[in-house]
Amino acid sequence: MTKFISFLFHKLTEDEPSELMEVSKSLFERCLFSIKEASIPVMCLGDLVKLSYTNSYKRVISITFDDGWDSDYKMAFPVLKEYEFRATFFIITDWINKKGYVQEGWLKEMSQSGMEIGSHTSSHRYLTRLSEDEVYKEFYDSKCRLEDMLGREVTAVSIPGGEYNGKIIKLAYKAGYKIIATSKPGINLPGSTLINRISIHSRTSLTDLKKIISFSPFFIFQLKSFYLARALIKKTFGIDGYLRLRNWFMKI
Ligand SMILES: [Zn+2]
Repeated sequence: MTKFISFLFHKLTEDEPSELMEVSKSLFERCLFSIKEASIPVMCLGDLVKLSYTNSYKRVISITFDDGWDSDYKMAFPVLKEYEFRATFFIITDWINKKGYVQEGWLKEMSQSGMEIGSHTSSHRYLTRLSEDEVYKEFYDSKCRLEDMLGREVTAVSIPGGEYNGKIIKLAYKAGYKIIATSKPGINLPGSTLINRISIHSRTSLTDLKKIISFSPFFIFQLKSFYLARALIKKTFGIDGYLRLRNWFMKI
């Protein structure tokens, strides 16, 4: 049965990463090179979830980006085209055309070149803090804006900060999404529409990337354990407390 792993990137940088969610462009390039070297097919999420149980692929990788930084277009897009890999870009629609983020024309070009564009909600507010109506609006408005802009259906959404619960998932399906990308690490199987993703950040090494590309069960177990520990900290100290602890951790 096909297993698939979904990478989650945020911002790429030409320099040394200065924030946790930044990744150097050179590490990204080495990641794509290692995937090609391992001869693992790369698909966007929209194509991946359509794979039947009887397809012939053993392993597939998907590459996703959250937040819609301008590095999506300026750095990731040219390299992806070079490798002929189709990735999924999750865009915060209120931030389109703002300084440091993607522009409307860029998104059209990326979509026309075969990249998948998904929503990362309208405003990126943590959904667990909003009312049901507000959550629905975040999902629905961003979907409509992207569809009007791109002239094609937008079926995938990623959850800001990975903060969700059963109610939020139901509202995403109600707003018309077929694929919901989380920040929970793990391997996915065909038919799953709630997608686990492995977050790549400034502290990820090339060795770590290669372990992920080889679908190392031990390494993925480690990532899951770390995620659960983090979830426990969030539950104990709240999201703000967790973010403060994370900033402190980044400084040591
Ligand atoms: Zn985000």
